[in-house]
Formats: sequence, C-alpha cells, structure tokens
Amino acid sequence: MTYRDLYEAGKRQLDSAGVAEAALDARLLLEYVCHTGRNDLLVHGEQPVEEAREKEYRSLIERRAQRIPLQQLTGEQEFMGLTFLVDEHVLIPRQDTEVLVEEVMKELHDGFRILDLCTGSGCILLSLLHYSNGCSGVGTDLMHDALDIARKNAERLGEENAVFVQGDLFSGVEGRFEIIVSNPPYIPTDVIPTLMDEVRLHEPLTALDGGADGLDFYRRIAREAKAHLCGGGQLFLEIGYDQGEAVTRLLEKEGYRDISCTQDFAGLDRVVCGTLYTAELS
Ligand code: GLN
Repeated sequence: MTYRDLYEAGKRQLDSAGVAEAALDARLLLEYVCHTGRNDLLVHGEQPVEEAREKEYRSLIERRAQRIPLQQLTGEQEFMGLTFLVDEHVLIPRQDTEVLVEEVMKELHDGFRILDLCTGSGCILLSLLHYSNGCSGVGTDLMHDALDIARKNAERLGEENAVFVQGDLFSGVEGRFEIIVSNPPYIPTDVIPTLMDEVRLHEPLTALDGGADGLDFYRRIAREAKAHLCGGGQLFLEIGYDQGEAVTRLLEKEGYRDISCTQDFAGLDRVVCGTLYTAELS
C-alpha cells in the first residue's frame, strides 16, 4: 500500500471513531512508524510502505480509535521545548502548564530550591531546572509509577539536581524552598464524566480529581506550604479557568501577600501566585 493510501485509511478510521483531529493524528502516527517528516505525505505519497510498518500503523490507529491519547502511543510529549516521556501513569503535559513554568521563571534566581508537588512526569520541575543556573529541586507524587517516569525524564535530560520523593504532598519533604509550585488535580469530581474520552478513560484519575469543588488540594497546599517556604518564598499554583477567585481567597486567608492571577493563551485564569513574607515555624 502507498504511504498516502495508508494515511487516508488511517484518517477515515479515526474520523469515524470521532477523534477530533483525525487528519493530524493519522499523519503523526504514520510519521512515527515510518520515521518520516511532515513533507513526506506531499512529496513521497506514492512510495510503498513495508508490510511490517503497515501492520504497526494499523494497530496504532486501532488503539487511537479507542481514544488512547496520541502521546501515550508515541510515548512522548513536547513541553517547554523539551521532550518528556509519558505513559498512562502521568498526566500528559499541557501547553497551559507552560504559563505556570513561565511565571515561575520570572522569579527564579540562581541557586534557588524548588519544590514541585504532584510532579507527575516531572515536566514542571525539570524544565525549571533546565532553564536556570545552579537551582535544585524536589518533586513529590503519591504514585510510584509516576515517579518512575519523572526519574527517567530527569536522566534523559541530564538534570542531576532533581530528587523525586514518593508521598502525599509534603510528607517526606524536608527543608525549606524559595519556590513551591504545583499543578495539582483540580477538576471537580462531578465534572470528570464530562471530560473528553482521551482524558476521562486514559489519563490517571488521581491526577485530575480535585474533590467535590475541585479545591481540595489548594486548601491543603496553601496551609501546609507555610512550613516549607523560606521567608519571602513564593507559591505558584496552576488553576482551572473558573478557580481564580476562590484560590486567591484561600491564599489570602492563609496569610500570603502580593497575590496575582495570570491568564493563559486563551485569556483564561490559569496561574495564581502568592508570597509568604513571614515563614511559619515548623
Ligand atoms: N488541565 C487538565 C485538563 O484539562 C487538568 C489538570 C489538573 O487537574 N491538574 O484535564
């Protein structure tokens, strides 16, 4: 079968399975299997595809039609210009989360210590370390399987100043940090059934479910972070589009100052940041 015919067949199958970006995903999977690039469809569409590759492609299309996310099939996602390994145990890094990383980077100085809670693939902590000098960090996650991926990512990126610790938020964390950052689970429990099949069925529920009002993790983080921030330390949180007001109130209540809310590329509230001027004694 030719490269183009195979692509067309893949596209049709994804389309009829209701995959949103059928044409794009059919092309990216074919490029993944054949080690080809964007132009090959246009320039070399008439080339035959080896039987083994055709078979592999058809099986990937089959799995994508079952709504398994593209990134879980290729095993990778780009984030902050870096390539991160992903699997079904970690949330796939989102472009929205780059806003969180960029906000932290504005405040990051050489040698800072960073704590990343609910680290998942490690994409937040590792990109902060990659784009800074002499900083070090700890990433925590409840899930061992997620930490395996985070450690592999650290190794692949050559980030030696990252330590990954299993635990429920701060348990197992010692010392104080200039920066605490988190993209915790924040989807209200009863919204989960309305998410896209790719997210709802194939991404880890523990990375998404933020409790009845979606704010469970922010309540705990805002309170418990005070024993782990240096005086003048800052807390950065990714939030859902409608949580800016509520998370700002929570930080105010806990004594954080200079609280700001930043929007994502779609103009929606995405990051809340606050400073703790007087560190709490632990
Ligand atoms: N933004 C993610 C989504 O759209 C949710 C991430 C989270 O709960 N931290 O599914």
